[in-house]
Amino acid sequence: MTGYTVRPVADDLDTGGFFAAAQDGQVAVQHCGECGQVLHMPRAYCRHCGAFSPRWRAVAPTGTVFSYTVVTHQVHPAFEVPYTVLLVELDEPAGVRLIGHVPGRPAVHIGQPVRASFPALPDGSLLPNWELLDDDAVAS
Ligand SMILES: [Zn+2]
Repeated sequence: MTGYTVRPVADDLDTGGFFAAAQDGQVAVQHCGECGQVLHMPRAYCRHCGAFSPRWRAVAPTGTVFSYTVVTHQVHPAFEVPYTVLLVELDEPAGVRLIGHVPGRPAVHIGQPVRASFPALPDGSLLPNWELLDDDAVAS
């Protein structure tokens, strides 16, 4: 334990819905309120139809490791090294990738299944992250 905590900016207009959903234990992705297209990265308007009506929708909290890297050079006291940064591709909707990290150097590989986890920060707020699953794990 480092004694340091890094908190996301949870009330940002573009990403606040993601962190609000996390407080309910959900992974949410922004969609257009008019045409329904996925808006990832989140934005105020839809590049498909031009509407300014983004909405957050809960999605399955599962995915696979799209890429990863092990960080060994400490850049912030809140993140003890080594740790492994995960780029996770959600099972749905297609093409949405989110970042997370796990401590240490776990056995990890591209395509490994993951499930969202929501560890609590010292103030009780929940921060979305990922837990690695065995290849034969059945997501439920
Ligand atoms: Zn649209």
